[in-house]
Amino acid sequence: MFRVQIESVGVTAMYVTKVEKVREYKVTEQGAYKVRVRYLLHKGVGAKKLQLRLFTIDVGGYTPLERHAHEHEVFVLQGRVLVRGRGKEVVAGSRDVIFIPSYEEHQFKNVGDETVEFLCTKETGEIPDVLKKRG
Ligand code: MN
Repeated sequence: MFRVQIESVGVTAMYVTKVEKVREYKVTEQGAYKVRVRYLLHKGVGAKKLQLRLFTIDVGGYTPLERHAHEHEVFVLQGRVLVRGRGKEVVAGSRDVIFIPSYEEHQFKNVGDETVEFLCTKETGEIPDVLKKRG
């Protein structure tokens, strides 16, 4: 009885994994260079509101300059990353925390001599496109 109720509202169980077990994809979007992503948490594992992604930017690489409705909450794990926002640029590094509001233009660029890694959220209940294609 209790279990049936839980399933009917779509509650899922705790999910634990290792980052190494999450497949990494090259970001092929126009304007991206030397960027890879692992979709750590998303709808496919039960996360109904957010995706948590781990981005890796190789030396000299960058994400596309973009703006969109969803916010980003970012935590830098390693490297030196130039974060370009609206009329503002900062160089962030390990343990720096960044918030990109809705519709603010943004771009991440590796300006150091080691790989950049950062965690970044995306507010969406969608499964990432690249995972959908695999069926
Ligand atoms: Mn973005």
